[in-house]
Amino acid sequence: MSLPRALTIAGSDSGGGAGIQADLKTFQELGVYGMSAITALTAQNTTGVQAVYPTTPDAVVTQIRSIGSDIGLDALKTGMLFGSDIIQAVAAVIREYGWTKVVVDPVMIAKGGSVLLQESAIHALITELLPLTEVLTPNIPEAEHLTGLSIKRATDKREAARKLAAFGARHVIIKGGHDDDEQKATDLWYDGRDFYELEGKRIDTVHTHGTGCTFSAALTAGLASGLELKAALEQAKAFIQAAIEGGIAIGHGRGPTNHWA
Ligand code: PLP
Repeated sequence: MSLPRALTIAGSDSGGGAGIQADLKTFQELGVYGMSAITALTAQNTTGVQAVYPTTPDAVVTQIRSIGSDIGLDALKTGMLFGSDIIQAVAAVIREYGWTKVVVDPVMIAKGGSVLLQESAIHALITELLPLTEVLTPNIPEAEHLTGLSIKRATDKREAARKLAAFGARHVIIKGGHDDDEQKATDLWYDGRDFYELEGKRIDTVHTHGTGCTFSAALTAGLASGLELKAALEQAKAFIQAAIEGGIAIGHGRGPTNHWA
């Protein structure tokens, strides 16, 4: 038998709720063979991030080449990349293999405030990685940080999406989880020409650790399986909604999302 193959290039969360661990669980649940290249180790639990230990650009590229030269892949995603040297190395290896189904989740700051992308790396993310990006999945604070815009109204969201597409991302999804709508969480999708809205219901829970990682991994799994972007987005939106509804109360802080019933 064969399976669609997906790679995540991201950070490890020792608490199992976000990063590489969330990505691999999501790939598995969506019937995709998951692989990983680890950019950083985090010591982390439901109360926050206790420490970050980045790996080296060389270690990241060597992991990716081990996959590229043997198993291959149908889609990949990036998550926590931490520094500009890792971003440059990842962009170079994506160009080397000519991979195009590239989902970029511009992970910057954990919900508890820990820095997962150095400020000095934002320029490299914009200039090196966004031109290689098929789908960019920022939340509102990340979209604000990347564009320098302040997003208060629907029109600001559209302006930010246009600016992110102008950096080179072919599709931009600005997620609605951080907006102030109390009933709904509506994502905005911009394909470089038109805008679309993906509506979901807002779920009242604190157990949302790993939502961004899980959403972008579900999207990557859909693309790896050969779904068109619209279908992959709808699948990812339904997956993350169910995972937030299934969020688990473990530890002493904010528990992780969980899709496994
Ligand atoms: N830790 C790692 C390694 C991540 O990649 C992410 C993803 O954004 C987070 C933590 C953030 O988790 P949270 O959903 O709690 O902000």
